[in-house]
Amino acid sequence: MRMSLVHAPTLKETPKEAEVPSHALLLRAGFIRKEAAGIYSFLPLAVRVLKKIEAIVREELDRAGAQEVILPTVQPAELWMESQRWEKYGPELLRFKDRKQAEFCYAPTAEEVMVALVRRDVRSYRQLPVNLYQIANKFRDEIRPRAGLMRGREFVMKDAYSFDADEAGASRTYQAMYDAYVRIFERCGLAFRPVEADTGAIGGSRSHEFQVLADSGEDSIVSCPSCGYTANVEKAEIQRPTGPLGSTPGGKFTSVPTPGKKSIDDVAAFLSLPKDRILKSLYVETDKGAFLVLLRGDRELNEIKLRARTGATWVEFKAGEAKATADARTSDGRPAVSAALAFGYLGPVGFSRKDIRILADDSVRTLADFACGANVEGEHLISVELSDLGITETHDLGMAGHGDPCGRCGGEFAFFRGIEVGHVFFLGTRYSEPMGCRFLDKDGQERPMVMGCYGVGVSRIMAAAIEQNHDGQGIKWPLPLAPFEVAVIPLAADGTIAETADWLYGDLRAAGIDVVIDDRPSRAGEKFADADLIGFPIQVMVGKKGLEQGGVELKVRATGARDLVPLDAAVQRIRELVIAGRRGLRA
Ligand code: ATP
Ligand code: MG
Repeated sequence: MRMSLVHAPTLKETPKEAEVPSHALLLRAGFIRKEAAGIYSFLPLAVRVLKKIEAIVREELDRAGAQEVILPTVQPAELWMESQRWEKYGPELLRFKDRKQAEFCYAPTAEEVMVALVRRDVRSYRQLPVNLYQIANKFRDEIRPRAGLMRGREFVMKDAYSFDADEAGASRTYQAMYDAYVRIFERCGLAFRPVEADTGAIGGSRSHEFQVLADSGEDSIVSCPSCGYTANVEKAEIQRPTGPLGSTPGGKFTSVPTPGKKSIDDVAAFLSLPKDRILKSLYVETDKGAFLVLLRGDRELNEIKLRARTGATWVEFKAGEAKATADARTSDGRPAVSAALAFGYLGPVGFSRKDIRILADDSVRTLADFACGANVEGEHLISVELSDLGITETHDLGMAGHGDPCGRCGGEFAFFRGIEVGHVFFLGTRYSEPMGCRFLDKDGQERPMVMGCYGVGVSRIMAAAIEQNHDGQGIKWPLPLAPFEVAVIPLAADGTIAETADWLYGDLRAAGIDVVIDDRPSRAGEKFADADLIGFPIQVMVGKKGLEQGGVELKVRATGARDLVPLDAAVQRIRELVIAGRRGLRA
């Protein structure tokens, strides 16, 4: 390809909207343009990267026995009603009507349509297992689209769905897909970890996320150095404390004025107490009723654990809001139980609302001589003891924190941040049961198929790869994902320099290398800057000085290493670098 023909409009300045390096660099290097919040156009360089990711995904999935299909992105509501997700999915699901007023949605995922496809034609155990995938755009009306391709509303996802006759078969398929994912992310040249994960809205029992390690990642992951247990903090089991709850006698507490001090930070500063001597009381409404959730002040509530504990499908936080009025309503119009609560000053001592249940996190067990809200505007209680709270049990409701004991072995958790690029779920019969996806087993018995589902964030991988591989000059693509493996950069537009560059370009193409020649009439400095910004892994500079010494200069973008190579050895040397890079070896 000739650079003069590539539509890659690079920008000198970093766009103001850019939140993370990958977002800034994809815009600056001319890979993407924003059309609306979380909705992007992919320019030619980005399409080349996507195709490379897709090719790796296809090869590895085909090897694992999955087959590609193409499903509609416009899906009928009836199928979503069969799985009960039409009500449950919430506002992330983009719903619309056709001209006959029939309801549809734009695919955020495809369990329902896939189940409909398979149940139509698969009747016997002889036809199982079936494992189908597609690579297609998805739409999720994310509440906070952010960071460019990292969390888009429309994005490219590979989604696969497997159907087996029994649990044992489904477990084998799950393992085959897990192994395929390991190979996919290795071949993409990413540093990643598989971690145990929550199953979220998709449902199911067993699940692993594949997390690319990056400081800008949204996900927090804990890992136990002693036993190797690695999990998303949303899921991470903390060792449960034992022993008595509150043996110190209470009744010593007094009320103190704390006007305007509503947050734990403000109360801690005002009362000169560390946060682990303040009780946090969060008011939460759910479809299973209202709760006052108690945590130690330095702890965060884990919404997923709260949902698991209460069986709620939705939860709504009211913490820190201004005092509600008597006719307050929740966002969907129900009367709020929260009316007339002293928000910011809530606490369990003397809490008289019988319609609001108190739930305490395990972390409160270590509290002694602490402060909590007094249920009166502008007042807190101090010198409170656990025996004043009237609680008899605690639960694991908190987000795992640094130094927490591992739920498996008691070792001390270490933390890192990650970007979720893939997710494998063991679904069991979550969809096949309600949607009647059944088959006849060997004995002629009708049984539901046992399913798994498996996602890869194809467009998110593009962003994650940049988060891991960039510097002040631009992107440093891992070679297997780069829009071009090699860029030949002539430092003059004519004469021997241009002819030599053309000859090299031709020979590299003939050697099966994905090469671009920067034939634009730009200054050398601009070509260098663009090559580094776009991130070509191997750059070949053809210039006067080098040619006088009979060679061309090779630069490896990832390391910055430069070296003058004799002309007649150049193609061979570049080939070696490319082949090593394709295997995922860093040059
Ligand atoms: P997240 O927790 O990041 O919202 P998820 O658990 O909702 O992800 P899945 O339903 O498992 O995601 O989707 C499969 C894969 O699709 C994810 O692992 C991720 O890589 C990608 N993905 C999900 N949501 C987005 C998004 N909004 N933008 C880009 N990629 C996404
Ligand atoms: Mg999501």
